[in-house]
Amino acid sequence: MKFDLHSHTFYSDGMLSPAELLARAIERKVDVLAITDHDTLLGLAPAHAAIAEQQLPLQLVNGVEISTSWYEFEIHIVGLAIDPTDTQLQHRLASQQERRLERAREMARRLTKHNVPDCLDAVLALANGGAVTRTHFARHLMNIGKASSMAGVFKHYLARGKAGYVPNNWVSLVEAVQWIHDAGGIAVLAHPLRYNLNGKWLTKLMREFASAGGDAAEVASCQLTPVQKRDVWSLCQQFGLVASQGSDFHQPTDWSDLGRGLYLTDDIRTVWQQFPALFPQPKPQPELQPESPAESSDKPQLCS
Ligand code: AMP
Ligand code: MN
Ligand code: MN
Ligand code: MN
Repeated sequence: MKFDLHSHTFYSDGMLSPAELLARAIERKVDVLAITDHDTLLGLAPAHAAIAEQQLPLQLVNGVEISTSWYEFEIHIVGLAIDPTDTQLQHRLASQQERRLERAREMARRLTKHNVPDCLDAVLALANGGAVTRTHFARHLMNIGKASSMAGVFKHYLARGKAGYVPNNWVSLVEAVQWIHDAGGIAVLAHPLRYNLNGKWLTKLMREFASAGGDAAEVASCQLTPVQKRDVWSLCQQFGLVASQGSDFHQPTDWSDLGRGLYLTDDIRTVWQQFPALFPQPKPQPELQPESPAESSDKPQLCS
């Protein structure tokens, strides 16, 4: 079974609809996919509808990726197997969306002073009713020729300390873990090596996440080397976390795709082993029985 437990649709900053995302996941041999849009559950119902209508051979895990403020950093916490009908979680996420909208207005004001006038409407049109993210600003800035690559736009306009960056007051890490648990889910520290933290800060993050009740951290993602995975897994073991894995797919690129690079060695304990009731499990291989035609009709069938 191949698990990819972190992906985005166009209800946040992914490029594909839920149905397109599922089709690609199946093509890429993913068996279990979590949709984890930024601070929104909007993609989950259409994804379930597509699975039912088209009888798709894929299991969907209901997920979300919550932005949190931790010291001066923005740390992402993935919630897996949350109940998407939980109205308390919906209300809580709505408060994050309001913060997103308010931040977008402020980003547009700041960018106006840096020669990018009146971009709010265009950015909101790109977000198309879903979560408004910095990725939408990046796409707009590329559309109007301010940069030629995503990496370039973030580096020059949107990264921390740049003209369009507005520090946001997201929910705290501790609260995000609570939100996820309250909605029946498990809390996973997303892409721990992507925050540019030095060793001391990374250790502090893992420790504080674990003492907040966090359950797991992403140990495998598309680009991590075996040594990096080992390092993250060592920290997990130190603080009693298990491992998750996900591509953080937004759109196909040369270096990332659904299911890509998601390998963990057998000694690593995973979220689906730790919480078997919340995840579809690999089917056990039936044991080979010696053939005995005379009795076979009385025996339970092993295969279905
Ligand atoms: P936001 O949650 O609105 O602050 O947007 C964060 C999103 O921007 C992340 O989920 C990534 O998809 C994207 N992002 C952040 N940094 C980069 C980068 N350097 N290059 C490309 N995308 C980025
Ligand atoms: Mn994103
Ligand atoms: Mn993230
Ligand atoms: Mn993500």
